[in-house]
Amino acid sequence: MSVRVRIAPSPTGDPHVGTAYMALFNLIFARHFNGEFILRIEDTDQTRSRKDYEQAIFDTLHWCGIRWDEGPDVGGPYGPYRQSERTAIYKKYADQLVAEGKAYKCFATPEELAEMRLIGRGYDRRYRNLSAQEIGERLAAGQSYVIRLKVPLTGDCVFIDDIKGQITYPWADIDDQILLKSDGFPTYHLANIVDDHLMKITHVIRGDEWLSSTPKHILLYEYFGWPPPRFLHMPLLLGTDGRKLSKRRNPTSIFFYRDSGYLPEAFVNFLTLMGYSMPSDQEVYTLDAIIKEFDPKRIGVSGAVFDLKKLDWLNQHYLINCVPENQLWEKIKTWSYSDNFMNQLMPLVHTRIKTFGEFLELTYFLFVNHIPYTDTLFAPKGLAKPSSAMILQSILWAMEEKENWGRENIQKASFEVASAFGVNHKKIVMPLLFATIMGKWQGPPLFDSVDLLGKERTRARFLAAIEFLGGIPKKKLITLKDHWERRECASLLEFSSSTQ
Ligand code: GLU
Repeated sequence: MSVRVRIAPSPTGDPHVGTAYMALFNLIFARHFNGEFILRIEDTDQTRSRKDYEQAIFDTLHWCGIRWDEGPDVGGPYGPYRQSERTAIYKKYADQLVAEGKAYKCFATPEELAEMRLIGRGYDRRYRNLSAQEIGERLAAGQSYVIRLKVPLTGDCVFIDDIKGQITYPWADIDDQILLKSDGFPTYHLANIVDDHLMKITHVIRGDEWLSSTPKHILLYEYFGWPPPRFLHMPLLLGTDGRKLSKRRNPTSIFFYRDSGYLPEAFVNFLTLMGYSMPSDQEVYTLDAIIKEFDPKRIGVSGAVFDLKKLDWLNQHYLINCVPENQLWEKIKTWSYSDNFMNQLMPLVHTRIKTFGEFLELTYFLFVNHIPYTDTLFAPKGLAKPSSAMILQSILWAMEEKENWGRENIQKASFEVASAFGVNHKKIVMPLLFATIMGKWQGPPLFDSVDLLGKERTRARFLAAIEFLGGIPKKKLITLKDHWERRECASLLEFSSSTQ
């Protein structure tokens, strides 16, 4: 039987480094064992899935040099490879489980569920044993329902993870998972299992965070009478603070790495180091080398620290060794000095320079990764450091609430924050924004500049500025969030002098 592996990202956000990380290990596994690597788009969450996010997955994986043998864009014998195009399949299988008594229709209303949540024990299985007559009556009355999995009430689920070894979960800890929602759309669990089976997946290689879902998956395989694939749960990516990588603390979008000017070869090498150690302890190697040497037993068991200093070190190594001097300018040009980018920049510069020599002075912030911050930059009108950090954090939240980070939205966000904090937009919020983005209080038009800088580098700048200001302690962050949600933040501000 030939090896078939897949990644199954959900297009519900910016393309995450975790997606590239999983894609790489699946690719390496497939190539090492002469198998197939499949890309499947899990877009059954209708409200959160977006086509532009899907495109971003393709684009960023391509940037990494990752190619797949089957997928929505390249086709293949087991398509369609986009779950939203397969809903009829899932419904059929859900109905089959109900007919066999392995799943059931649950008529719980939102109010009932809210009540159960309030008691704090989750769904209490109250519709698990309805009589056929009662079900018939409810259906006749047009009540809406979901389909839930009938999870055993006692005993243990025991399975082997090929990285972690034997895993045991008591069934009592596992809820009667919803398989099909009332709108007829499947949940991740049902769609994932049905597709892995129909697409003949032999090994499921995915992140650690899915380990606790695996009992439900194993049960589904058993109920359907299908042989389960092997499972390999890869170590989580951690920040240098030892916590799970999160976009609130670390740059997690692959775009950030591309737009900051990293080389894809170095980025890929770095990601494989996260989960793997070469027998020689070598840290610099090509993708071909790891494919050749690959041994699943050498995959790490515990979390891997995503350390940007290491990435910088690796990147420099690749720069020196893989980019000859006479190609360097070409590489830098395609990275950022592309004609397209420069043409967008020219209108912002045209009336603001006296000589060409001032061009870089005016726009340097678009071409660097680190802005030299100083205290006074962040103290407009005597604002205290922690207050500046809170204003910046709130602007970030306000922007996250928007569909995109285009100039209008950023401008809107900044006004929303000024009004929530009761401060002057021009005298407080704008200087803070200029400071964060440009490291100075004047420059080309701010919102257009942010547009050019791009979402990920902008976000990274906010995180860097907040960190420069001493960060926001967790307790304070919770208080701030609470005030922000009510848009009443004025009472949180402090000024170090009375020059407000
Ligand atoms: N759709 C899941 C995700 O977003 C797939 C997890 C899996 O590989 O089973 O990562």
